[in-house]
Amino acid sequence: MSAKIIDGKAIAAELRAKVAVEGRLLAEKLGRPPGLAVVLVGDNPASEVYVRNKARASVEIGLASFEHKLPVTTSETELLELVLTLSADLKIDGILVQLPLPATIDPARILNAISPAKDVDGFSPLNAGRLASGLPGLAPCTPLGCVSLARSVRSSLAGLEAVVVGRSNIVGKPLAQLLLAENATVTIAHSKTKNLPAVCRRADLLFAAIGKPEFVRGDWIKPGATVIDIGINRITGPEGKSRVVGDVAFREAAKVAGAISPVPGGVGPMTIACLLANTLRAAAMRASLSPPNL
Ligand code: NAP
Repeated sequence: MSAKIIDGKAIAAELRAKVAVEGRLLAEKLGRPPGLAVVLVGDNPASEVYVRNKARASVEIGLASFEHKLPVTTSETELLELVLTLSADLKIDGILVQLPLPATIDPARILNAISPAKDVDGFSPLNAGRLASGLPGLAPCTPLGCVSLARSVRSSLAGLEAVVVGRSNIVGKPLAQLLLAENATVTIAHSKTKNLPAVCRRADLLFAAIGKPEFVRGDWIKPGATVIDIGINRITGPEGKSRVVGDVAFREAAKVAGAISPVPGGVGPMTIACLLANTLRAAAMRASLSPPNL
């Protein structure tokens, strides 16, 4: 193995520490701590863990955490009412509705009801449009984390060839916009891309957001490239034990890449840290204060 391993846990811990400091300064100006509301509907075990972790991380750094756990029988109208109440609540700066929602609820209707000023997930069309137009707004957390990881090993991304594999609204597309804002030369690849290995081999910066275990092979990587693996895939090994792997064949890729983020311990921890950072950004914007120094 020759690649530097990008330690997402350590970089996320640094960001959380900065958010804690900036959060205290902001709290003094606001006269209250910045507040994050997290809404969970139903009892999906993975979602329960995510929501618990987000609430714990908020409290640890001094944010006010508002947790709403609703039964799986909650109707779309009831959830809409809660989202509208939270959108109007002056103590709350960020609202996150944990996905997936039960099949009886249309996620688009719920996400569209979140005030764009409190949309700390950055999924609303308004924030997506602001990102695409280079205007200030709230960008999605996982792509923000990916750019921070890349910046941890490359002081500037300007002029680098970046390839993003995956074009979802929550990862691939916003990530491409953030990379463009960093002055990288960006290619977005997807399931219809011809000769994907050759496209990936052009990349100084390769981002994999596909959702297919170990799909990107070692011989797709340009020697010395920075590889950021966004995938989270649970697989069962030959001995019957289940484990989480990324979208990149880590061992193969680490022999060729200059730097690579592992799964777990890479992008995952950054997502929550960036959510906390976005809550501060939202609080500052809502109060017309200058953005926190993060
Ligand atoms: P998604 O909505 O399913 O999108 C997957 C993308 O991969 C699509 O654009 C698809 O192309 C592309 N793709 C699928 N098969 C391909 C192939 N054979 N060749 C090239 N491209 C292919 O997934 P997502 O929500 O973006 O998530 C992607 C991965 O990131 C998942 O493993 C997810 O669990 C993980 N994730 C991690 C975090 C985190 O915090 N670390 C957060 C979010 C997501 P088409 O558009 O052509 O179908």
